[in-house]
Amino acid sequence: MKTVLIIDDDADCRRVFGAVLNQSGWQVYHAGNGDEGIELARQHRPSVVLCDLLMPRVNGFKVCRELRADASLRQMGIVVTSGRNFEADRRAAIDAGADDYLPKPVEPAALVAALARFDVNDIPPAPEKPAEMPTRISGLPRLKFWGVRGSTPAPGAGTVVYGGNTSCIEIRAKGELIVLDAGTGLRLLGRQLAEEFKDQPLHVTLLLTHTHWDHIQGLPFFQPAYQPQNRVRILGFEGARHGLSSVLSSQMENPFFPITLRQLPANLQIEELKEMKFSIGRVRVEACFANHPGICVGYRLFTGEASIAYFPDNEPHYVAEGIDPKAAAEYAQSQERRIIAFLRGVDILIMDAQYDREEYQRHKGWGHACLDDVVALALKAEVKKLFLFHHDPDHEDGKISEMAEYARKLVKAQNGKLQVDAAREGLVVELAGVAQAVR
Ligand SMILES: [Zn+2]
Ligand SMILES: [Zn+2]
Repeated sequence: MKTVLIIDDDADCRRVFGAVLNQSGWQVYHAGNGDEGIELARQHRPSVVLCDLLMPRVNGFKVCRELRADASLRQMGIVVTSGRNFEADRRAAIDAGADDYLPKPVEPAALVAALARFDVNDIPPAPEKPAEMPTRISGLPRLKFWGVRGSTPAPGAGTVVYGGNTSCIEIRAKGELIVLDAGTGLRLLGRQLAEEFKDQPLHVTLLLTHTHWDHIQGLPFFQPAYQPQNRVRILGFEGARHGLSSVLSSQMENPFFPITLRQLPANLQIEELKEMKFSIGRVRVEACFANHPGICVGYRLFTGEASIAYFPDNEPHYVAEGIDPKAAAEYAQSQERRIIAFLRGVDILIMDAQYDREEYQRHKGWGHACLDDVVALALKAEVKKLFLFHHDPDHEDGKISEMAEYARKLVKAQNGKLQVDAAREGLVVELAGVAQAVR
């Protein structure tokens, strides 16, 4: 059965288009606004959507982008109609994902002709389970750092020891392949996975803390996403202003990138997390909001061998200026208690330690940490091993080594047992023997 969904806030238009198409054998669904249209498109999965451009709230461009962000709807046609006949609108609609653009009024014969090429069966439902079984992830449970830098990549002679790529960590545990953040380090991980698994189907879960550039820019260069046998699941919380899939697809829109997210051949699933506790296979995960601009979280993963907490961007107990100092201090302390409870006893803590004490004075309220505060936090939470992370792009190798050494001195001064290292690209940590970090 060929089906069409007409999205138009003009009831007359819907009626006229509906009657014409009905006569040509189309089954017709109607929606009076963009929101409802997106919902019905997901529910009925029609062969084609006929969508008006100028609608209040959710306009036709937005409808196109939302539907195109759903990889499982990639075969669905989208035809935009508009009372305006500007070339710029036509181009923008095509850029947003439309297949065609019809200026109103549309002649009945022209409408039928324009939709004829979408005369296919409904879009099949998204597969619950992929046909192919994923390749087993075997070997000792471990984590590997692929990108440790904050804010922006920092390649160059001064950063060869710790590396210049932005946030990306691979975890292999309990048969799962989990990637924490998709910074530029993800490109190197993708290359390694493609080499290691070749044509075998791979299931990868990307767990995102937030969508700042340094945590998502590797995604367009992730080789497994270009291999149709793979499934790439992307999990994260909704952004401050836009949904996760719309943020991730917008960084790949023209003119930023030549291939759109929906054109990636792998089976890509983007899922917005709603719960703070969930599981990836047999790995239990908990999330905790971080003190960082926008919606940003940290995660704690329970792998069996070792628990891992990951807070790449966080400013511990920051006391905001301009409000009652006593209330601000009390609030900061309550936030600190919350995060200590979350981290309590974790084996491995990977945490934002971007600034030294002196630099931090100039960066208060930026959402990144002072090293001294991070060490104090890790000691209070009885963490076993701390990896300083999200290195400042201006910090060269010598500076990062100094910061790690300084952190160890802080621990010693308090007779603490906490081990401290600076995270570096390529470092592998066997989870069964957390104390023995080896390259
Ligand atoms: Zn960051
Ligand atoms: Zn950030």
